[in-house]
Amino acid sequence: MPNLDKCKKLILEIAEVGSQNPNPPLINDLFPFRHYFDDKGNLMQKKLSEIDGLWTRREILTRFLFLQAVLDQGPDIEGIRKLLKDVTNNLYKKEVRILHRPLDFFKEVGFSVDEILQNHETIKKLRAEDWARENKSTANRYNLFMDNAKQVLGYAVYRWGVPLAVPYLLEKDLQKNNQTSTEPLVDFIESFESSEIMSEQIKDNVRYGLGKAIGDKAAHLFAKWFVYTFNLGRKNYNSWGNLSYELPFDSNVGRVLFRTGYLLELTNLNDLESWQVIQKNAGKGGKHYIRVTNLRGQKVDIGDENFKKNYDDIAMNFLHTKKRSPKNIEIQQTVNALLLNSQYGIGQLDDGIIHIGTNFCRNHDAPLCKNCPLKNLCEGYNNKNELIDEYRT
Ligand code: SF4
Repeated sequence: MPNLDKCKKLILEIAEVGSQNPNPPLINDLFPFRHYFDDKGNLMQKKLSEIDGLWTRREILTRFLFLQAVLDQGPDIEGIRKLLKDVTNNLYKKEVRILHRPLDFFKEVGFSVDEILQNHETIKKLRAEDWARENKSTANRYNLFMDNAKQVLGYAVYRWGVPLAVPYLLEKDLQKNNQTSTEPLVDFIESFESSEIMSEQIKDNVRYGLGKAIGDKAAHLFAKWFVYTFNLGRKNYNSWGNLSYELPFDSNVGRVLFRTGYLLELTNLNDLESWQVIQKNAGKGGKHYIRVTNLRGQKVDIGDENFKKNYDDIAMNFLHTKKRSPKNIEIQQTVNALLLNSQYGIGQLDDGIIHIGTNFCRNHDAPLCKNCPLKNLCEGYNNKNELIDEYRT
């Protein structure tokens, strides 16, 4: 049976680190909504329902985060965020108001494409050398267009155009039914029973889903921004609270939860290998590769009644993905159950993992363990150095 006290201590410690080191996307100096934030850069929550053009501030911010979640999946997050910010600012200066009037992006496709191309070149000059060094690659391979495509139009129409078209289609459908709303995208987002179901539907919904333009991790990141980081939601019950969505699973999660021993407490190396979460000798420098996304949906046997009660509560009343007590425990949802009845949620946990993963627990054989806030709890540092030495994400 896993040592659940140890697991809980670790998860609460990471969430505490996250509460001290929040990681919001820095959007307060974006031209279209600079005035939504106060002098200290905090979003003015009480004014979210104020009208800006045809829509509320909440709607405009949600549209932006929806777009950002799609774009954020590319190879160099710092470069991508700069590209999104610079293109949006420059288009707004030309009165191409893509969040207020999504159709502008297509009507003025010449401007849109020019801005993407020009800013991509500028960012490449700024970032390519650093990126190449960090990723053991060459600077001329730097490319933010995703899927390694070189053609701007495919990138612009698919990755920018699809998330911008969703609120436009919602608006058109309302008009067709003689209805109006100042928050069509927010209404759609909140039409689901929980933020977890929303994160599935923004991908899978037949009419409004983003399909392959968004992955599970990005959909959960959007849920985190909407529910926790910017607190945009209008619903304040459990299934729209800070435990109502899964942790966005990225490589930082893989490294931190593996090296600290969390994953091995709940399962074992054989299972991790059979699930292809650990791929032998397939990582950088011939090390074993941790592919954490393959963990989602895998079942674990925990054998502790109290934990199972909490897990059932999470599955039925927070994530709302199950109507009755589920037979199995899905490993990626164990952290929600451990955080239940604590002062923390998935938002703080994710911020903590990002902070630790990018500042201490980096993807090489010499992470900064001596300075890491988890050093007293970490199995890799204290007992099993091979968890650090032999595995990469
Ligand atoms: S102590 Fe070291 S291995 Fe453990 S989480 Fe911190 S940086 Fe990573």
